[in-house]
Amino acid sequence: MAGSISELQKIALHEAGHIVIAILEGYYVYGAMLDGPALNPGAIWRNAPNGRAVETDREWAAAELRMFIGGYCAERLLLGDNNPNWVNGENADYGMRDYCAVQHLEIPNDIVLLHELGRNEKFVPYHLWREKLRQFDWVQYDMVIEEAERRVMDALAAHRPQLLELGRRLLSEGYLRGRDIYAIMERPWPGVDRTGAWVDF
Ligand SMILES: [Zn+2]
Repeated sequence: MAGSISELQKIALHEAGHIVIAILEGYYVYGAMLDGPALNPGAIWRNAPNGRAVETDREWAAAELRMFIGGYCAERLLLGDNNPNWVNGENADYGMRDYCAVQHLEIPNDIVLLHELGRNEKFVPYHLWREKLRQFDWVQYDMVIEEAERRVMDALAAHRPQLLELGRRLLSEGYLRGRDIYAIMERPWPGVDRTGAWVDF
């Protein structure tokens, strides 16, 4: 069955996974689209509520981590695996996941990592952290991510009908408006101004 599913269908399910987790975590979700560039093909447009930020709020860093892994977890839940090409690029899901895990963990570890980054490179893109910082202890980060993946897979499984409907609508129309997303999720449209910029992931 999985072999008969097109790439566009998989992308739609991937984005639907981001959407479901973003709504559950309390983001404002303004919309989603499918027809992006080849290696970054989908996007959702969202904003964190009340000025919450990954860099200053470690609980929000955990929420953002879950939102970033929602896409590939939806692929794994519904298709058994995920497309590595959609998560490995610069500023793509794996890199942002690692960045959020670093922000979520205790400050001393954060300082160690920043020290390693500063000593070895002027700037190491998030998606190259693991490759370039092999000496760094990633075990605790992997534990955070494993826990988050369990939680996200459970949340997606509990919202399977909404996940499939979001994917179906996104596939058939190419985009989803915020108000339609909230209707499918059976949540009130928050009606906030669209202040966030587009961020592809
Ligand atoms: Zn994604």
